[in-house]
Amino acid sequence: MSAAAATVRPEAPGGCGAAPVQQERGQREVFCGLTGIVWLHRKIQDAFFLVVGSRTCAHLIQSAAGVMIFAEPRFATAILEERDLAGLADANEELDRAVERLIERRPEIKLLFLVGSCPSEVIKLDLSRAAGRLSKKLMPRVRVLSYSGSGIETTFTQGEDACLAALVPELPAAPADAAPNLLIAGALAEPVEDQFARLFAAMGLGPVSFFPPRRAADLPAVGPTTRVLLAQPFLAETARLLEARGATVLTAPFPLGAEGTSLWLRAAADAWGIPAPRFAAATALPEQRARQAIAKSGASLAGKSIFFFPDSQLEIPLARFAARECGMRLTEVGTPYLHRAHLAQELALLPEARLVEGQDVDKQLDRCRETRPDLTVCGLGLANPLEAEGMATKWSIELLFTPIQGFDQAADLAALFARPLARRARLEV
Ligand code: SF4
Repeated sequence: MSAAAATVRPEAPGGCGAAPVQQERGQREVFCGLTGIVWLHRKIQDAFFLVVGSRTCAHLIQSAAGVMIFAEPRFATAILEERDLAGLADANEELDRAVERLIERRPEIKLLFLVGSCPSEVIKLDLSRAAGRLSKKLMPRVRVLSYSGSGIETTFTQGEDACLAALVPELPAAPADAAPNLLIAGALAEPVEDQFARLFAAMGLGPVSFFPPRRAADLPAVGPTTRVLLAQPFLAETARLLEARGATVLTAPFPLGAEGTSLWLRAAADAWGIPAPRFAAATALPEQRARQAIAKSGASLAGKSIFFFPDSQLEIPLARFAARECGMRLTEVGTPYLHRAHLAQELALLPEARLVEGQDVDKQLDRCRETRPDLTVCGLGLANPLEAEGMATKWSIELLFTPIQGFDQAADLAALFARPLARRARLEV
């Protein structure tokens, strides 16, 4: 591997690289980190997520995942009733019994996550100690880890960050003289992963591994020769822990849209010293196909305005795609957290817009009503009232459940934005 070649990135005129970011700290309207279980349980196929929580948590998980109930779901809620407040020792014993019953009944489980939540009786339980105790009992058959999905500590995509961060210490160590290896961090749909694997292979870049893996036994090794490419912009803690294990995180835009995907792939290609003609031979055709498909499915978006409420942390890459590849006008781009280093290249590409970090939902609703954007991307809780006021909305959670990364999905992403506009146009006829 050569030293990273200097790459010229196309900046947006008046891009947001150094733009001021408005900070808001008020009432928030976001899902909690438990929501991540809905896509994570499909990703790691022999893992199980046991939420330690209340009936509210059980309802949230069931309704968020309701569209895809399996005969044997890979998540459940251990409900702590109020009686458990009387004695933590009882609660710990009850938890151990619930886990042992589960493992007995489901021998295919190899990795068990105890997922913490908000209720005060759960906060008092030390889940990391419980995970250590249970791991000792159940290893090597089952590894038990814990993380928090509590709404007090996490917004909904931070659940994935917390889950992957819990897994990082379990990754085997790659020797200091191991061959350079690429680690793609962040849950991606399997067809998307397969497409990226084919593109890297076509460039002659490897070995490549994906984190989280599809099976618990396939945890990738990490060490000083590991280069990490983040597939999702919400993995601040995971990236920090991977760096602490010696890995280097490559900065790149995120693989949304033809442009984002191409620049994301190029960041890895540059780190490996892949010659430009070889990179072009692998990516030019799929990139061109993606651009043509976006032009078709996103044609109705040109000139339309879009407003992002802070929800998924995908907002800045999505806004960059909407503006630069679909010709949309950005009115406001809100994000729950802004990791300046991981998003540096996204910000440089983003056309000028009001950038907001955090949320004060009433003020933001006022601004949204005032600007009356053609499309508002927001959480489920805000979508219905805004629709009732005649505004077209897109649920940001749908952008997490749908494969949107990569060249082949770029047109689907444009179509996800175009659909609510078409529906509203039909309603208005
Ligand atoms: S973790 Fe907290 S915010 Fe999330 S469902 Fe449970 S009680 Fe509600």
